[in-house]
Amino acid sequence: MNQAETSVMTRSGVDATSAAVQRWLESFEAALRDADTSAIAGLFLPDSHWRDLLAFTWSVTPHRGAGQIAQALARTQAATLARGFAIAKNRTAPRRVRRLGTEVIEGIFEFETAVGRGVGVVRLPASEPARAWVLLTSLEELKGFEEKIDARRPTGSAYSRNFGGDNWLDQRIKAQAYLDREPTVLIVGAGQAGLALAARLGQLDVDTLVVEKHERIGDNWRKRYHSLALHNQIHVNHLPYMPFPPTWPKYIPKDMLGDWFEFYASALELNVWTGSEFAGGTYDTAAGQWRAVVRRADGSERVLHPRHLVFANGVSGIPRIPSLPGLDDFAGEVVHSHSFTSGAAWRGKKALVLGTGNSGHDVAQDLHSPGVDTTIIQRGSTTVVSVDPSAKLNYALYDEGLPLDDVDLIATAATYPLIVRGYQLAVERMVELDKDLIANLIARGFKYDLGEDKTGHQMKYRRRGGGYYLDVGCSQLIIDGAIGLLQFDQIDRFVAEGVRLKDGSILPADLLVLATGYYTQRELVRRLLGDAVAERVGEIWGIGPDGEMANMWKRTAQEGLWFMAGSLAQCRIYSKHLALQIKAIEEGLLQSR
Ligand SMILES: Cc1cc2nc3c(=O)[nH]c(=O)nc-3n(C[C@H](O)[C@H](O)[C@H](O)COP(=O)(O)OP(=O)(O)OC[C@H]3O[C@@H](n4cnc5c(N)ncnc54)[C@H](O)[C@@H]3O)c2cc1C
Repeated sequence: MNQAETSVMTRSGVDATSAAVQRWLESFEAALRDADTSAIAGLFLPDSHWRDLLAFTWSVTPHRGAGQIAQALARTQAATLARGFAIAKNRTAPRRVRRLGTEVIEGIFEFETAVGRGVGVVRLPASEPARAWVLLTSLEELKGFEEKIDARRPTGSAYSRNFGGDNWLDQRIKAQAYLDREPTVLIVGAGQAGLALAARLGQLDVDTLVVEKHERIGDNWRKRYHSLALHNQIHVNHLPYMPFPPTWPKYIPKDMLGDWFEFYASALELNVWTGSEFAGGTYDTAAGQWRAVVRRADGSERVLHPRHLVFANGVSGIPRIPSLPGLDDFAGEVVHSHSFTSGAAWRGKKALVLGTGNSGHDVAQDLHSPGVDTTIIQRGSTTVVSVDPSAKLNYALYDEGLPLDDVDLIATAATYPLIVRGYQLAVERMVELDKDLIANLIARGFKYDLGEDKTGHQMKYRRRGGGYYLDVGCSQLIIDGAIGLLQFDQIDRFVAEGVRLKDGSILPADLLVLATGYYTQRELVRRLLGDAVAERVGEIWGIGPDGEMANMWKRTAQEGLWFMAGSLAQCRIYSKHLALQIKAIEEGLLQSR
């Protein structure tokens, strides 16, 4: 089929592209209804991919290959009862696009199951549109528990013109106090992960309390270093229900984002206790609830009994402090990048920054700009990518001009092998765009890499949450020698006045900033919920055995314990699925484990 043919209308008035999708959906529904494994397999290319977000499997589940996909679909259909597959109304119409170098027809469809309504994406190769290459199925809502938005919004009669009764504010204050009830869900952390999930749960009428140890919502961003702005553009970063104003800058500065989080919590009527630290908890299996200790700002403790505990406490919770030879002898100041705010106070002094990830580079640049003599120390090889144009390539989907919900859906269709291939293709272009930057860094002695399978920074983010720098100017300062570069293996030990190198020379320093990263969430689990829970749950974040993010956004081996983390986009997208699972458990539609 060529481009001209796609716009040709068939006799029924449907264009050829839509007709291909419709035909595939009809065949798919018939094969599913009959649980006919070979007919289902015949609708997929031999090397095809199906990602299910709850609709069939109640988890985030990838499958690969026609045979495996057909068996899994036929097996799960018995309980799912998926039907009514049709091109989705009011969404982007099927169209021809290029994905991973292949011409495809991409269609968004809708369907229903025994318990809910779903949407999905199917990608049919343009050369062979009778068989699918990629399929996504995603549960969007539960029947009878739809989000109360737009036409279903509340009337407000419970508090509007409620003469003599509680008005909206009175009710909000009472709701937040939890004096006479327990929250169903306790979320630890009011960053983007916690707030997005609380907003989604609120829409599903699940009583949710967020506890945040900082004094104000948004302090998790405000307290980061002075010069920080987001690395990807605003249109990728909206939170659910309440997009950023169209007047806002493309790259949001940290304090602006922090303030937005505060508005967001208020506007979405979220129950948040600030100055309140989750101090630990134990799970009572018989009662199906947690005993959760929350320490309030005044030092008092409150014991809560939520049925669900969500760790949204960040992948940068506990700073990792490496043991460095001779550090105790160093007479200067030592801070972790977590507590570093600004270089201004160090003007005219000498600083060392250990670590060449994002924080290390940004801190070094922040120190250099007011006139601190700064040297960055490299331990491991690092991926460097220009924030513009290269880093933007991974978000090219978001530049296609489609509604955000549609792009999110299309973006979530990728399983691990497709994600890897996509990043590899993007990296090929990045390397071309950044070739001078990379060559000059290497010439300067900077250790540079593209990740174990040439997937660049995005896969490093998924695998270990670091190991890369999105260049906003520091690389040129290193290339020019304006910021010094020292390899860690050149160091003999720290001494009172700075570091002594293996050649016997001393590099003097007044300040050492450790941009050495953080312990994983697993360590937070160990410290807050104990070794047994940490062992039961296993790795958190990183790539699990099935290629999905380990323990993220789905039920875990510990009943009642959930993990929520990720970029603003991931939090926007997967908060919906996590909230739906909790709601389904609460309504008896899903087992808690
Ligand atoms: C320079 C830089 C640029 C970035 N740019 C982008 C970008 O453009 N787009 C993007 O999507 N992401 C970006 N990120 C990354 C990412 O968005 C953040 O790391 C983000 O903060 C993760 O959100 P979170 O809600 O999971 O965790 P956090 O923001 O870390 O929030 C966790 C919260 O939990 C609280 N908490 C922890 N423990 C407890 C406890 N025991 N009790 C109570 N509260 C607790 C913390 O105080 C904190 O407020 C950037 C990060 C940096 C450093």
